[in-house]
Amino acid sequence: MKCPFCGKEDTRVIDSRPADDGASIRRRRQCDACSKRFTTYEKVETIPLVVIKKDNSREPYDRSKIESGIFRSCHKRHISVEQIKEMTDEIENAIYNLEDKEMQSSVIGEMVMKKLKEVDVLTLLPTASAWNGAGNNQKRSPLRKF
Ligand SMILES: [Zn+2]
Repeated sequence: MKCPFCGKEDTRVIDSRPADDGASIRRRRQCDACSKRFTTYEKVETIPLVVIKKDNSREPYDRSKIESGIFRSCHKRHISVEQIKEMTDEIENAIYNLEDKEMQSSVIGEMVMKKLKEVDVLTLLPTASAWNGAGNNQKRSPLRKF
């Protein structure tokens, strides 16, 4: 990838995450020559991802399935649409970083569950400690990457 500022080819990716609701990947790049940063967008179609279901049938990866799965689990929690979108972005980012072309649906399911547990700890802790008064014995959420 050529640097738009100095034209040198030595640039590297410092961050990548889904954009346009998963239709593209936004990459932050830095030029090794002039240290300037710039952003590129790459279409996700270049990384076709197939999900293998329990009965071994395959279907194209669909971001909205993750989103609706989270929504179903979250409708009784105090979680905003923005938070659901954020969680989906983070899960999707992790999926893309694996760079697999095929993925078991159960693996994606586990990622969603893990993410929900993190959010549970974040959203339920203040309530729990308010009621109990004392400290908690729940695991703390790991530090967020972003
Ligand atoms: Zn440069």
